[in-house]
Amino acid sequence: MVSVLDPEVKRALVERVRYYNELGIYDFYRREPAVATLDAIKDAADLENPTIQTEQRDLMTPRSKAAIAVSVEENVFEVSNSKPESGVVDPVQALRLIREDLGDCTRCRLSKQGRKQIVFGVGNPKADLMFIGEAPGADEDQQGEPFVGRAGQLLNNMIKAMGLRREDVYIANIIKCRPPGNRTPERDECETCSPFLMRQIAAIKPKAIVALGAVAAKTLLAINAPMSEFRGRWFDFRGTKLAVTYHPAFLLRDPRQKKETWKDLQMVMKELGMKIPAKGVE
Ligand code: URA
Repeated sequence: MVSVLDPEVKRALVERVRYYNELGIYDFYRREPAVATLDAIKDAADLENPTIQTEQRDLMTPRSKAAIAVSVEENVFEVSNSKPESGVVDPVQALRLIREDLGDCTRCRLSKQGRKQIVFGVGNPKADLMFIGEAPGADEDQQGEPFVGRAGQLLNNMIKAMGLRREDVYIANIIKCRPPGNRTPERDECETCSPFLMRQIAAIKPKAIVALGAVAAKTLLAINAPMSEFRGRWFDFRGTKLAVTYHPAFLLRDPRQKKETWKDLQMVMKELGMKIPAKGVE
């Protein structure tokens, strides 16, 4: 095994990892010692090239006989792939670092489609319970806080019915910017934004997550299923229990489903060892 990494190759790789970091991507897996050409790596580090998958294929495919062996000992990823909050145990500080890293985000088209502000998340950084919705609406965009409009009032009622206060839990969305006309977030918007949510979850370490509605459930679990298959059971989300219930906006349209939602929340309370109040969601 060759143990010396050509400095130019190393620089190109570090550049490339930095590029991914800027996109909010920090987790890489390592293949067996790869043999890559300098040209391939340089091409892959070309920041103009938009197709990440093609880039990855290129990076792993030797293109000429003048191959340079890249040693696994020399791990360039460790040079620059640590997240700003890595090793920070205090969730308040970790969340602050994640927010700083997000910055005045322009990573997806939503930054140019009328969003007023980024809606990061709100609540107790040490919460046992986290609610995750879909995307900010007009009120949230205006106020910079998730679930503050009519759907938010209903979410507050759900939280109160559980015997909790809004400040006790943490509330966030799959994406942090309002889609124009409140349309459903596009897949690439979710993929670009959700790594920040993953980092928030990792910082908070809740005991349970409640995904509100199908978009949140599908994105978090990477399962394409109807609500009927998501509800009434626990999922494992990277080692954290995850339950799915109806989105409060749906409950505003069909209040009869509040009874069903209450069943979901009771399942969550049981899991968290909470006393179950007699009254349901109003
Ligand atoms: N709907 C959501 O999914 N999130 C909000 O923050 C508000 C409404």
